[in-house]
Amino acid sequence: MSKYKKKSVISSRVTEIPTSGIRRFFDLIASSDNIISLGVGEPDFITPWHIRESAIYSIERGHTHYTSNNGIPELRRELSKYLEQRQGITYDWNSEILVTVGVSEALDLVMRTLLDNDDEVISTEPSFVAYEPVVYMAGGSFVPIPTSMDNEFIIQIKDLERSITPKTKILLINNPNNPTGSVISNDILVEISKIVEKNDLIVVSDEIYDRLTYSENKPGIHFASLPGMKERTVTLNGFSKTFAMTGWRIGYATGPAEIISAMTKVHQYTMMSASTVSQEAAIEALKNGENSFQNMLKDYRLRKRLLVDGLREAGLDCVDPDGAFYVFPSIQSTGLTSEEFAEMLLVEEKVAVVPGNVFGPSGEGYIRCCYAASIDDIREAILRIKRFLKNHR
Ligand code: PMP
Repeated sequence: MSKYKKKSVISSRVTEIPTSGIRRFFDLIASSDNIISLGVGEPDFITPWHIRESAIYSIERGHTHYTSNNGIPELRRELSKYLEQRQGITYDWNSEILVTVGVSEALDLVMRTLLDNDDEVISTEPSFVAYEPVVYMAGGSFVPIPTSMDNEFIIQIKDLERSITPKTKILLINNPNNPTGSVISNDILVEISKIVEKNDLIVVSDEIYDRLTYSENKPGIHFASLPGMKERTVTLNGFSKTFAMTGWRIGYATGPAEIISAMTKVHQYTMMSASTVSQEAAIEALKNGENSFQNMLKDYRLRKRLLVDGLREAGLDCVDPDGAFYVFPSIQSTGLTSEEFAEMLLVEEKVAVVPGNVFGPSGEGYIRCCYAASIDDIREAILRIKRFLKNHR
C-alpha cells in the first residue's frame, strides 16, 4: 500500500507512459553472464585519451563552477566554426547555439518550448524510443509516419503529405536514423523542404549520427542547409556518438535566435548549464578530435560490412544501411515476433539485440543490431545467430 494518502501519487500523464521496452531488456541482460551485446546504442570505444586528459586539466585548474547558461563562449565559438566548416551553415555563436545535457535534453527543451496542448508532431516510425514520450510530456501528440523495408525505411512523400493536419506544428526528422540506419537522400530532403514551406512547419532535425555515414552519394545532409530551411529548423546534435562521449552528457541545439532564446529560458530554470568539465572536454574534441573520429569511423565501416554480410548469410533479410551504427534485419521468416526472437536469442545463445517493436508498431518483425561492438564479438554473435536460426526454422 502506498504510504501517501492521495489516491494517485504519480501524475496520470507519467502513469500513461509505458516504461521503455529497451530498459526491460537491459534488465534481462544484466542478469546473465557471457552475453555478447549488439543491444545498447553506444560506441564501445572509450573517449579518446586527449579528450579525457583535457577534462583532467580542467579539474586541476579548478574549473568547478557553473558556466553561462547557454554554454562556455569558447565552446560556442568552436561549434560555430565547426558547423561552418562541416555543414556550410553559419550560426551566430552568441544567439543561435545552446549547449545542452546531451541531445536528450535538447529534444525535451525544444518540444516544451514549441508545443501547445494538442499540437501535432509528425515523425517517421520506427523511431528513437524517446520521441513519443517527450512529445507527450510536452503536451503534444505524436503522429507516426510508418516506413518499411520495402522503401529502405525512407519516408515516402505521399505519406508525409497525408499525415499533415491543421494541428501539425513540427516535423521531427532523424537523419541518419536510429534504429534503421537509413539516410535520406538530398533529393528527398529537398522535396520534404517544399512541403515544410507550403505547410508552414517547423523542423526539428536530430542529426546526432551525422558524421557516421558510409555512402559517397549520401554524405548525411543537414536539413538547415537547404534553401529557406535555416529559419525554420532547430538542429540537435552532440558529442555522444561522434566522439564516443555518451557518459559526458553533452550536446547542443542550433536554430533561429528567437527559438534558441526561448529554449534557453527553459534550460536555465531546469539544468542551469551543462557540466563544466564536459564542456571543456567538448572544446578539445572539436579542436583536436578529428583523427580519433576518422579512426573510429573506419572501424565502424568494417564492422558494418561484417554484420550485414553475416546476417544475410544467416538468412536474415536486411537493408545495407548508409548511416549510424545499426542494422535492422527482418526476422519475419522465422515466424517469431520481435520480442520472442530477441528473448529466445538472449536465453538460448546469449546474444542481445533489441526487438524492433520498441521503436513503434512498424518495427514489429525486425530486430535492431548495433555494430558498435568489437570485430571478435560480431563474428561470435553471427555464429550464434546462425545456430539459433538453424534450430528455429
Ligand atoms: N537521438 C537519437 C536518435 C539517439 O539515438 C540518441 C542516443 N541513443 C539520442 C538522441 C540521445 O543522445 P545523447 O547521448 O546526446 O543524449
